Amino acid sequence: MTKLTEDLELCPACRKGCLMAAQYTRAFELKGKHVEVQLQTSVCDACGETTTKASQHRENLRALAERKTHYGNVLMGEEILALRKHYGLTQQQASTIFGKGKIAFSRYESETSYPDESTTLLLTLAIEKAEVMKCLADKAGVELPLWPERCEDDRGVKLRLIQGARVPAMTMRQQTMQPDFSPGPFASNMLLGPVRPIIFPVASNDSVDLPEVVVS
Ligand SMILES: [Zn+2]
Repeated sequence: MTKLTEDLELCPACRKGCLMAAQYTRAFELKGKHVEVQLQTSVCDACGETTTKASQHRENLRALAERKTHYGNVLMGEEILALRKHYGLTQQQASTIFGKGKIAFSRYESETSYPDESTTLLLTLAIEKAEVMKCLADKAGVELPLWPERCEDDRGVKLRLIQGARVPAMTMRQQTMQPDFSPGPFASNMLLGPVRPIIFPVASNDSVDLPEVVVS
């Protein structure tokens, strides 16, 4: 750990020492590739206890998310964790759904090991499509605790889509009209034309939980 500058904040553990900003490296051994991420924390100059402040934690999450550029198709631990949390599953339930051993998800989420190619494909499909997750869970006989909530989200998105689709189209056309222009029956038809729905991807990953950064 590299000690940087003193920021004179009192240590919440001993209430005697001051917190010093510090940096450490978290390394990922990614299928033959070594990826390092620099992370921020604070260390007490009296008791040596480490404390990661909220601002440091946010910065760490950003730095961790940036490592995705090295991953290609490989899923990061956070992405697998987010999928599991999205449906309210335990690690063991998630492992059962994907036909893996009891501790598989714990290993995937901490990136102690990475899912094989076929599991990566299944996980990616399940992240992209809720129906895939539901089918896999049904086949494995595992209930998805948050399935009703995820269906609610889905309905909410569709409803907003229907409401939103016509309004921007109309506003845009009105803005292109000349101020003294009064359209006749044909002109107004031509101007409005058929309203095409705008299709956005349905958010399947909106409550992303990120892992706690464990300082070792
Ligand atoms: Zn202390």
